[in-house]
Formats: sequence, structure tokens, C-alpha cells
Amino acid sequence: MRKFIVGNWKMNGTSRDLKEIEAIASAAQDYVSVDSALCVPATLIDRAVRQIGSFSIGGQDCHMLTEGAFTGCVSAEMLGDAGAVLTIVGHSERRTAQHECDIDICAKAEAAHAAGLHAIVCVGETLNERESGKALDVVLKQLGASLPDTAAGNWLCVAYEPVWAIGTGRVAGPDDVEEMHGAIRSALAQRFGEEGNAIRILYGGSMNGENAAQLLALDNVDGGLIGGASLSAAKFEPILAAAEALSK
Ligand code: PEP
Repeated sequence: MRKFIVGNWKMNGTSRDLKEIEAIASAAQDYVSVDSALCVPATLIDRAVRQIGSFSIGGQDCHMLTEGAFTGCVSAEMLGDAGAVLTIVGHSERRTAQHECDIDICAKAEAAHAAGLHAIVCVGETLNERESGKALDVVLKQLGASLPDTAAGNWLCVAYEPVWAIGTGRVAGPDDVEEMHGAIRSALAQRFGEEGNAIRILYGGSMNGENAAQLLALDNVDGGLIGGASLSAAKFEPILAAAEALSK
């Protein structure tokens, strides 16, 4: 399976940063065995797409409905209209701060699909849940309820992001990552049959140029969702290089 490396700029970036997006897109061209994308603030999608052409640009969330009285929200169709080809849904920062639940996230994934976008559906446990031995249960429950029945068919991937590893510099141990990704893979295969084996499972949580090779080599780690280390080409490119080296 081709590795999928996706940057998440979160609430960072204005027109001043278009040059950096261009640098990332240009670096990505050298890694032909890797799929890559950058999820930027909605305000930058249109300009980024116009400026860089063929590199995949995505959003970081979408509303579950196509239009209506939802002040401040952006629909999947609007993301697509701006030129996005994918969107993250269910990032833990939104699950926490916006109180998004699995049912919302499932509806958002379906909305993304209906708008022709690839969806990255995020799941992950808190530190408290991991320390109390509930990580597998919590993540598999999130997975079951956040994925629509239509999830097979190559329009969606899953990102396992332990909440305590996001933006903290703390990375989940290789055994824990392999155990979780293996459990997610089994759940996908059980629910979607052979097509469940084709759904990519990304790891997210303080991935960087130093730890990417080890993480991406683990069983069922089909790529990475990267926050901090995606903000510059200098930091993002070594992750692409690690993924490319594993693809040979
Ligand atoms: C993320 O935002 O999804 C993420 C994984 O962030 P970071 O790489 O900074 O931990």
C-alpha cells in the first residue's frame, strides 16, 4: 500500500505562508512513491490550489450539511468548490473543543464523500483512558461509530492519534502503535471484508523527521498525520523521505 503523508496546519497560516506551502508541494514532487497532502485553514485553500497546481490541498473539518443557517461553518461542498480534495474529520481538538461526537463525525465523513472529498477520520484515546487500560475499547468504539457503512471504496482513511501524543513531543511506543493499528485493521476487515484491508491507517502524534522511519515501518502504519512538523518544508520533507525509503 502506498504511504499517505498528510500535514495538518491547524489554525496556522495566512497569505504570507503561501510560499511555504509552495515549498512543501515542490518538495513532495520528488517522492513519487508516496501520496501526500496538506490540510490548511479554509481561508487558504483557494489561493494555495491556484498557486501550486497539482499538489493535494485539504480542509481540516466540514459541516455535515450542505448549506443553511450555520454561522461560521464550512460545508464539504464549499471545501471542494475552493479546490480541496480531502478533509480531516473528527480531529481530537474538535472532538474536545467543539464537543463533536462520533455520530457528528460519521455524518461529516458522509458529507465529505458526497462532495467528492477523501476523508481522514480521526480516532484516539486520552492519557487517562490509556493509563486505565481502556485505550483499545475507546478507540474501537470511536471507530465503529465514526465510520459510515459506505466507508469501503478507497475514499476514506483512518488516523489513529493518541490525544496525549498530539503536539506534546510524546510519541506512542512502537508496541502500542502496532497493537492499536492491528486492532483497527481487524475491525475494518471484519466490518468491510477485503475492502477493509485496503483502508489506510495513519498514525498521528508528534511524528517528525527523526521518528518517522521507525513509526512508518510498523505493521499497518500506512502513513502519518502530522501537525507541527508539517509547518515547514524543512521539517516535512524528511518525513516524506522516510516514507519513500520504505516504499522501495
Ligand atoms: C495533529 O494535529 O493531528 C498532530 C498529529 O499534531 P502533531 O504532529 O503536532 O502532534
